[in-house]
Amino acid sequence: MDDNVIEFNEFTAPTSCTNSEVCCWLCQRGTSLRALFCQHCGSIQPVRALDHFSRLGLERRIDIDSALLERRYNSLKKALDPARFAIRGLGERGHAAKQYKALEEAYDTLREPLRRGRYWLALHEREVKEAEGSNPMVAELRAELEGASLPPQCDRIAHKAGTAMEQGIVSLMQALRSQNWQLANAILMEVDGLENLMDDVRGRRTSLALTAAPSSDEDVTRIK
Ligand SMILES: [Zn+2]
Repeated sequence: MDDNVIEFNEFTAPTSCTNSEVCCWLCQRGTSLRALFCQHCGSIQPVRALDHFSRLGLERRIDIDSALLERRYNSLKKALDPARFAIRGLGERGHAAKQYKALEEAYDTLREPLRRGRYWLALHEREVKEAEGSNPMVAELRAELEGASLPPQCDRIAHKAGTAMEQGIVSLMQALRSQNWQLANAILMEVDGLENLMDDVRGRRTSLALTAAPSSDEDVTRIK
């Protein structure tokens, strides 16, 4: 990759880059931070430090236009298709692969409200204190799970936790819209707690179903 740069430097003008945001890695002329391809030589550019919104060419807002997100993602994905770079040099193929990965990460983060909310909070508030202690609702459901001895009890807890999570995500979005970072962080902690709880409920349900199976399963007794 570095060899290429030196080679191309010999016949390009390195001075024209000084007034630009960034320089093209290949022809060394000026390009913009957001440009995927150099406007001079057409080569794919390295992954630049952009936020996920800018990477997808979206306005930086907590509420996004999902249809627009899909359109941007699909056209960028097409532009970064590895097949397009198959006959290019190693440097270009490497940058294309990294751009593709960065695009996937941006898309995965923005399309899902919870991930987008978490990211939005991280973009805006680096000083938010980690919420201490356990959330009352999560603690209550946890206590209920401790006492659960039948799969249907687990299902009930999972349903409650699922509903609370959905409500939590709605409240999280509201808190982020009104820039109440502290509240948003507290809600995020609750949602995280509920998510962990759901995992535990699933685990508990599986083990309860396994221990209950031999006595209730008619097929097993018949075969024996
Ligand atoms: Zn260039």
